[in-house]
Amino acid sequence: MRTPPNALQFKRRLLAWFRRAARDLPWRATRDPYRVLVSEFMLQQTQASRVVEYYPRFLQRYPTVHDLANARPKAVREAWDGLGYYRRAENLHRLAQVVVKRHDGLVPDRPDVLRTLPGVGPYTAAAVATFAYEKRAAPVDTNVARVLRRVFRPRLQDGAHGRRTILDLAQAVLPHRPKVAWEFNQALMDLGARVCRARKPDCPRCPVRTACKTGGKMV
Ligand code: SF4
Repeated sequence: MRTPPNALQFKRRLLAWFRRAARDLPWRATRDPYRVLVSEFMLQQTQASRVVEYYPRFLQRYPTVHDLANARPKAVREAWDGLGYYRRAENLHRLAQVVVKRHDGLVPDRPDVLRTLPGVGPYTAAAVATFAYEKRAAPVDTNVARVLRRVFRPRLQDGAHGRRTILDLAQAVLPHRPKVAWEFNQALMDLGARVCRARKPDCPRCPVRTACKTGGKMV
């Protein structure tokens, strides 16, 4: 896919906003792949503001992938208590065991290998690749897909083709330098959660408004 004409302006504005107004989230201060994985599992169905409470507690109890792999299932469930959707805790526990047994205790860095682990789909695989290993991968969840749709207004077909277009678009607008791609991916998450919300996008105060085909004057 060709890079859309408004992509450069969008990237500049998004990164400038993120550098001055990023949320201070504990998993952004680490590149430890195990810790990033724990945060991504917790964030799968829970808002960041709640995960902030549980994340340090879980890591205090299981600071390494080996600690988690050796834990009893009942204890892991207790450590997850309050977050709900316990299937995530079960998958994370099994994942730790697989990483220790088959990957020498090292979380893989390639999205295709990450996807073979329990509970890891395309989004989480890309998220770990970029947020832990600073690889040029584009994690696209519903928030990110919504922002990209609104900003670039790509022609979308129904179903799998439409999803493919959004994934291609996400890759086309991703900055080339991996460290900047890390920031860009985090910034997209922040924009989707705080400004370009599903129900009430705050277009008048949006930092990328002038580069947006929906809320700006680019239509
Ligand atoms: S201008 Fe509006 S639609 Fe566009 S990215 Fe910002 S909040 Fe979303």
